[in-house]
Amino acid sequence: MTPAAEPSFRDSVDLMFNRAVALMDLGPGLEQKIRVCNSTYTVRFGVRLRGKIETFTGYRSVHSEHMEPVKGGIRYAPSVNQDEVEALAALMTYKCALVETPFGGSKGGLCIDPRTWEPHELEQITRRFAYELIKRDLINPAQNVPAPDMGTGEREMAWIADQYARMNTTDINAKACVTGKPLNAGGIQGRIEATGRGVQYALRAFFRHPEDAAQAGLSGGLEGKRVIVQGLGNVGYHAAKFLSEEDGAIITGIIERDGAVHSDQGLDVDRVRQWMGAHGTIRGYPGAFFLANGASLLEADCDILIPAAMEGVIHLGNAAAIRAPLIIEAANGPITFGADEILRHSGKVIIPDLYANAGGVTVSYFEWVKNLSHIRFGRLQRRAEEARHQLLVNELERLSADKGLGWTLSPGFKDSYLRGAGELDLVRSGLDDTMRAAYQAMRELWHGRDDVHDLRVAAYVVSIGRVAATYVSKGL
Ligand code: GLU
Repeated sequence: MTPAAEPSFRDSVDLMFNRAVALMDLGPGLEQKIRVCNSTYTVRFGVRLRGKIETFTGYRSVHSEHMEPVKGGIRYAPSVNQDEVEALAALMTYKCALVETPFGGSKGGLCIDPRTWEPHELEQITRRFAYELIKRDLINPAQNVPAPDMGTGEREMAWIADQYARMNTTDINAKACVTGKPLNAGGIQGRIEATGRGVQYALRAFFRHPEDAAQAGLSGGLEGKRVIVQGLGNVGYHAAKFLSEEDGAIITGIIERDGAVHSDQGLDVDRVRQWMGAHGTIRGYPGAFFLANGASLLEADCDILIPAAMEGVIHLGNAAAIRAPLIIEAANGPITFGADEILRHSGKVIIPDLYANAGGVTVSYFEWVKNLSHIRFGRLQRRAEEARHQLLVNELERLSADKGLGWTLSPGFKDSYLRGAGELDLVRSGLDDTMRAAYQAMRELWHGRDDVHDLRVAAYVVSIGRVAATYVSKGL
């Protein structure tokens, strides 16, 4: 648990903002305008369930409307509270600015333990919550576009989209009112994996620069790097899976709510997930060392630590014991302000949340654009691209035959060269490009300015600068 001496999550985000803004020269009052949360709507509503009326509390917070719509997920957890939702909304503002998705920042939350309700009950609750937000334009394709977060997924987004469509029968852009929908309800390929995929691309961007890796005392690429992941939910699972299957990283530890498993030889991420699905716990997973005190594995020796669950898991109480030289914040706010200070002073490198987990909102942006354009990406170009490539392959083969050169193109080359880019290829390419560009923007400051010593401050300076520029050009 976070020691009582720590600031709240919201204050922690503001303190991080303050560190960065102190290095900037914004016009009078602009700093305060950007920092504050514009509004938070609290709703308490009743739903008749199991023979009685249950009352639920939910929030939708809008941190900054410098661009609209505002964007950010809806979280379902018993611990949801106003402070948390406002902190997460602020992070959305900075995240969107950093990866250049044209949105302001927002976040929503419902105090509920989704595991205690049946799907049909969750549908009733979600539709009622959505109704309350829709009628106040807190869900609207042009003004406020939610997405999944902890405890919610495609299913909830489909209910929200349908609820909006029922209440706005003539809105041709209704589907764009929420992102993270299933494919058959207007979703986009690659959205579920997007945040984990973004973590992978972020790490690739980092290791592409040997001098950056050297700041963490690391060398080489991701191959053979020992990784500990905290949280095998959607984000942690995809990050760990892609890093181990595609980059040769070794997942030596996985931390879950009821314990952790550890193996120097590496864990098979899919098998661990299947085990958890079948048994409801990570305990008992065969062929690995089990620790009942899962959080203690955060302090174990490894090359890369990936907190991918909740905020505040690395705090004043355990920061000094963290051994990983590189920490990438796949969750929002996993390192408190105080812990960040301790880690920085002990030479750890932190790839900050507003960059590391921006893959989700980046692909949400693609989904929103897809919904507004009413056409799947690649639909017009794919076969034309394939036909053009086929022309080149035919010509090469003709030349070879005419000149008696005996060239044969390898089947692997032909297959991949001839295949036109489909939606998933385009989404991944757009995400990779986004993560690379944002990394460059951060590292230019990290290495280029004497007063910027870490990636978090660099990320905030880039973001705040962009938000400020939007306000100034609006004449505020
Ligand atoms: N909930 C995710 C986040 O924290 C995604 C937000 C979105 O796609 O709008 O970034």
